[in-house]
Amino acid sequence: LPATIVCIGMAGSGKTTFMQRLNAHLHGKKEPPYIINLDPAVKNVPFDRNIDIRDSVNYREVMTQYNLGPNGGIMTSLNLFATKIDQVIGILEKRAGSISSVLVDTPGQIECFVWSASGAIITDALASTFPTVIAYIIDTPRTAQPATFMANMLYACSILYKTKLPMILVFNKTDAQDASFAKEWMTDFEAFQSALRASENEGDEEAIGGSGYMGSLLNSMSLMLDEFYNHLDLVGVSAMTGAGIEDFLKAVEDKVQEYERDYKPEMEKAR
Ligand code: GDP
Ligand code: MG
Repeated sequence: LPATIVCIGMAGSGKTTFMQRLNAHLHGKKEPPYIINLDPAVKNVPFDRNIDIRDSVNYREVMTQYNLGPNGGIMTSLNLFATKIDQVIGILEKRAGSISSVLVDTPGQIECFVWSASGAIITDALASTFPTVIAYIIDTPRTAQPATFMANMLYACSILYKTKLPMILVFNKTDAQDASFAKEWMTDFEAFQSALRASENEGDEEAIGGSGYMGSLLNSMSLMLDEFYNHLDLVGVSAMTGAGIEDFLKAVEDKVQEYERDYKPEMEKAR
């Protein structure tokens, strides 16, 4: 069965560019993926989609008709799409033999997808049919401060807890900033603590240092995150240049095995 890769990440982290890069890469290897766009509000999608939420729901019309703001419009569009997810799964099952993977792009407003009932219905439907992994896309240059790094990791942790699916942390934009700091912080608690202390000493406005209550909060959170990190794979990529894409595909293979071993039995028990 083709692996399903659901791309989730903050607006601007590079989900769409990453999907475009993966798509081109897989086509180059003669392993074409099946592409699903779940962002109803996106104007231009720079690659061919097999299924596009915009073909079945008109986001602007939904906003006008139900008198909604942008987030309400996205949520309602997702709700409408979720009512047809059985048909989508049916199409995917028919294609399963001829595709290498299914790539899913999600709305820029991350919380609309992650914390909505329809987001859960869509991911559950995919995950109960195909080996499904979450690719959590991170804007590396914007995550290089210890405090922002911690905040981003906590968000990833909450998504792991919510979806209960295997997750790969994709540190994107490594052409602009190398991701080795992240690898170090995730494997070496002392290194993260000293980065925290250093950022405080710099008197950096964004930094919330190693002492005081914020410091001790960050310290205890990083101990908790240590456990979370054990469940994750980390890859550095550049969606722009294509660096690291093969590492990502290797991580997907590993996570598919984890899905078969740990997640699928759990899901079947829960049903
Ligand atoms: P999305 O909102 O998560 O879908 O993010 P986009 O794919 O639209 O990308 C947001 C911005 O980041 C765009 O200006 C991209 O050109 C830029 N971007 C995406 N990937 C990379 C990358 O690997 N390196 C660099 N330098 N910029 C990138
Ligand atoms: Mg996008």
